[in-house]
Amino acid sequence: MSISVVAKRLYDAAYYLAHREARCEYQRAHLIDHREEKRARDAAYHAAHRDEGRERSRAYYVDHQEEKRLYDAAYRADHPEKERERKRRRREAPFTWARLDPWPSFCHLCGLFIDPARVFPDRGMGTLGHEPPVAWMLRHPEYGGTLVLRPEHWACNAAKSDRPDWELVA
Ligand SMILES: [Zn+2]
Repeated sequence: MSISVVAKRLYDAAYYLAHREARCEYQRAHLIDHREEKRARDAAYHAAHRDEGRERSRAYYVDHQEEKRLYDAAYRADHPEKERERKRRRREAPFTWARLDPWPSFCHLCGLFIDPARVFPDRGMGTLGHEPPVAWMLRHPEYGGTLVLRPEHWACNAAKSDRPDWELVA
């Protein structure tokens, strides 16, 4: 960068700072003077273009419907945990299971440790156990007891199926 360019930039910056207040004041005064005018202009513009905007967004939606569908499907494939979470929430509605806090490190069905290193598709991995199970709650919405989310091995959770603890035979 040449010296004259640097000098000009410094000069511009100094000029900008020196006149900042005056410029702000001018803009403020201008805004107040023309407020009504601007409001009327904006309202007229909005009225004239309202349908246009609506039509445009509808056309955009139609044009990009397939694209959006593919995008959504790709997003779900990339974020299986979000999709699982979404499905879980839909299944659980309208009940609320309280998550054990602190979260235990053992399975509430067999009592053995859950190794966090074991992951899908290992049946020994940890899963979110609903007690009573979601399917059971949907059949017994009148149940007034506590609902808890707790760790369970996947295999234990699957064997338990839709039975609450008290229906399990030891
Ligand atoms: Zn277990």
